[in-house]
Amino acid sequence: MKSKPLSLYIHIPFCANKCDYCDFVSFDNCVNVIPSYLDTLIREIKSYKDKCINHIVETIYIGGGTPSLLSAAQIGKLMTALRKNFVITDNAEITIECNPGSLTAAKLNKYKSIGINRLSLGIQSHDSLELKVLGRVQSTKSVFKALALIQRCGIENLSIDFLYNIPLPREIANANLRRDIEAEVQFLLNVAPHIKHISTYSLTPELGTPLARRLDYEELYELDEDTSIEEELDLQETLKEHGFKRYEVSNWAQKGYECKHNLNYWNAEHEYLGFGVSAHGLFDGERYENTEDLNMYLLKPNKVHSSEKRTKADLVNEIIMLGLRTKKGVSLSRLGDLGINLLAEKSKEVLELSNIGLLKTHGNDLRATEDGMFILNLLIDMLTLDKKREKSLQ
Ligand code: SF4
Repeated sequence: MKSKPLSLYIHIPFCANKCDYCDFVSFDNCVNVIPSYLDTLIREIKSYKDKCINHIVETIYIGGGTPSLLSAAQIGKLMTALRKNFVITDNAEITIECNPGSLTAAKLNKYKSIGINRLSLGIQSHDSLELKVLGRVQSTKSVFKALALIQRCGIENLSIDFLYNIPLPREIANANLRRDIEAEVQFLLNVAPHIKHISTYSLTPELGTPLARRLDYEELYELDEDTSIEEELDLQETLKEHGFKRYEVSNWAQKGYECKHNLNYWNAEHEYLGFGVSAHGLFDGERYENTEDLNMYLLKPNKVHSSEKRTKADLVNEIIMLGLRTKKGVSLSRLGDLGINLLAEKSKEVLELSNIGLLKTHGNDLRATEDGMFILNLLIDMLTLDKKREKSLQ
């Protein structure tokens, strides 16, 4: 029997400090919980061994939180458990997320020796003022030190996270000054040409975070819409000048360095398992979500998740929604195999959006144009199936 491809995600929910904009499931001041969390993770991993004998793991992503907060030995223990319980293909893409402040040469060498071949470094910004606005513990110096360490250790598949649309401190906003994102990115890529992949995110102030409170107190000011769009365009132009190509709405890569793990999510076909608190999975026709409650997870790692069957309507809408996010677009032939002729069902919307340059067909794919990517949520709203049509597919 042919093995089925599988991806694994492992969530490490611990951080040295909580950043001011963060509303992810991550905990600071919990370093003493890490050993028992790791043991629980391994119990959860083991519980899938028998269910996955016909699967082969193609990608692994250790994300967080801050996985690089764990010691080299702890990450080694995790990888040993994964290798004992799953068949992992020789050329699997294995990524670990790191933060500049917690990365050391010893950790990097260990990662390399246990087969981790891709790093995702959470830079967000290297400007000291912006780092202060974000409430990040790292410094400009630690960002460049981490980049130099990575270059020396020789893991060449390096991705970074980079934020734009960062609010301005009151005195900067009042002086009508703005961020020179082009100069920042030019500098970063000139100093660190070994960066092969960049995930860019617009900062959204989430309710209840310290950053949202500082906006309320007018200590910080959000960018107006025009400035925010200009910043995004400047960022995109600079990345293009440096040879990066956008292959998903937020993701840019040098040729051959697209993230396989995320591409597997976005093709809405691949099964994946999520281990750890708040992790998600898609396995055996079901979507599941682990609890966000750390104590509950530590008590019962396999009994505290909710799951639901993925219906045909869910799959159709996922193909449309995730496809629109990618450069490749929505596969019309795949929808056709599921009995959906999207161009006929949404003929009015497709015509309207194509006429104003937001959508285009390319062979058997329907794609959002660069302008369309700016209003992706609207496109998704217009092109996914409505509740009535979803019901007719059940
Ligand atoms: S490092 Fe990431 S996960 Fe941790 S607090 Fe900061 S933004 Fe949140």
